[in-house]
Amino acid sequence: MEICVLCVKQSKKVSTGKPHDDLIEIDQPRFFTGAAPRGFKEQDYLCLTCNSKFSHSTNKNDVAWTLWRG
Ligand SMILES: [Zn+2]
Repeated sequence: MEICVLCVKQSKKVSTGKPHDDLIEIDQPRFFTGAAPRGFKEQDYLCLTCNSKFSHSTNKNDVAWTLWRG
């Protein structure tokens, strides 16, 4: 499936970037504690336009927006 323009842009955003308007949160956020200094959070998103899935991580060691091709 083709990914939409907004998702292409989303995949290049930094961790502070907001999800685009057609990305909805799916599932509950996952909290990881114990990692220095404050732990981090992961949240999955689904695009209503192209059905792409993203995982957003606040872990500085991870890619901020990971695109999962369906
Ligand atoms: Zn999309």
